[in-house]
Amino acid sequence: MKIILHVDMNSYFATAEQQSNPFLRGKPVCVAGKGSGERTICAALSVEAKKMGVKGIMSVWEARNLCPDIIVVAADFNKYQFISRQLFSILESYSPNVEIFSIDEAFVDLTRICKNIEEAQNIALDIKARLKSEVGDYLTCSIGISHNKLLAKLASEKQKPDGLTIIDKNNLNDILATTPIEDVCGIGPRLSKRLYPLGIKSMQDLAQTNLQRLTHFFNPRQAKILKMMGQGIDYEPVLPYWQFPLEKSYGHSYTLPKNVFKKEEAFKVLLKLAEKVARRLRKAKVLGRTIHIYIRFFDFTSYGEQTTLTHFTNDGLEIYQVGLKIITKYHFSKPIRAVGISITNLKNSVDTPALLLPEDIKNNEVIKASDAINDRYGEFTLFRASLTKIKDKVQNIPDGRNKRIML
Ligand SMILES: [Mg+2]
Repeated sequence: MKIILHVDMNSYFATAEQQSNPFLRGKPVCVAGKGSGERTICAALSVEAKKMGVKGIMSVWEARNLCPDIIVVAADFNKYQFISRQLFSILESYSPNVEIFSIDEAFVDLTRICKNIEEAQNIALDIKARLKSEVGDYLTCSIGISHNKLLAKLASEKQKPDGLTIIDKNNLNDILATTPIEDVCGIGPRLSKRLYPLGIKSMQDLAQTNLQRLTHFFNPRQAKILKMMGQGIDYEPVLPYWQFPLEKSYGHSYTLPKNVFKKEEAFKVLLKLAEKVARRLRKAKVLGRTIHIYIRFFDFTSYGEQTTLTHFTNDGLEIYQVGLKIITKYHFSKPIRAVGISITNLKNSVDTPALLLPEDIKNNEVIKASDAINDRYGEFTLFRASLTKIKDKVQNIPDGRNKRIML
């Protein structure tokens, strides 16, 4: 049986700010994105702010209304990355198999390192102590230990802050009976909404639901995975960045609502496709180097060309600009039916932050923050000002019939 440990930093960005500025300790703190004023969403809250009822989905203005003493601090992602890297290198001193799950979470496979859960528990206490002595005395993390990633992550959620929770055969059934399905990583609020009407509220309910019944409401693969989740079964390995399986390519294409004659009409589609591809790359923590554009004409003939950059990217704007160059130099004589973009020549991006220049790190953080907002509120809720210029240019095309289709 495997032994997996999951570490999750508590109220991370807010605690990191309290770590670096003792004046903020013990006070309600809200970390917000830079420069967007009172309507910015609270990116992170200190324990004290959460106690006052402030929630992460609130705007700074709402937070201030509820808690007039709240101190708003601008997010400093360089600081958070710097702290995270120190935590991750502590984890890597125990096992080479560390999977960085997000900026403040990681899985550690201790299967070959520990003989039993008790030994893993000692390592967990050691990690907590080293976090305080080597990284910052105000920082805390919650640790979960179990026999797979699903249960280890669930365990770390159980006790905050500074928790240490073990899920093994002694308490597994209790946990399954008392854990609401929306707490399971991979189910979340969206899938839960589809499960509640079926009378499925806890993991145990899910485990006891007939697979055939689940197949009525979900595709067979999803149904099987859901049932396994309910039982606390998970075979996913802990994947250090150097073992991440790579897809061969990422691509998107779009068939226009009607055939268009002007290639400028294809630009706005291209912009959206480039952003979509870039977002998928970033989600998969992958960078690509070869960008391939293809255009399909009304008669189903097509044109395609690719360019290989000297560096790797997952930036939608850059991918768009390469695509634009390709399309601009080609003379079209037929109406365009569809546009596609794909990117190949891929590598993992997880290992690169340390090698980036400060301005690249900043750009990455802007992209990351806008991804988080777009994940929550839908594509293109937020985009960079540099894209607005392109958007304007695209929208000012004299024949703007399809103005609002893509943007
Ligand atoms: Mg956390």
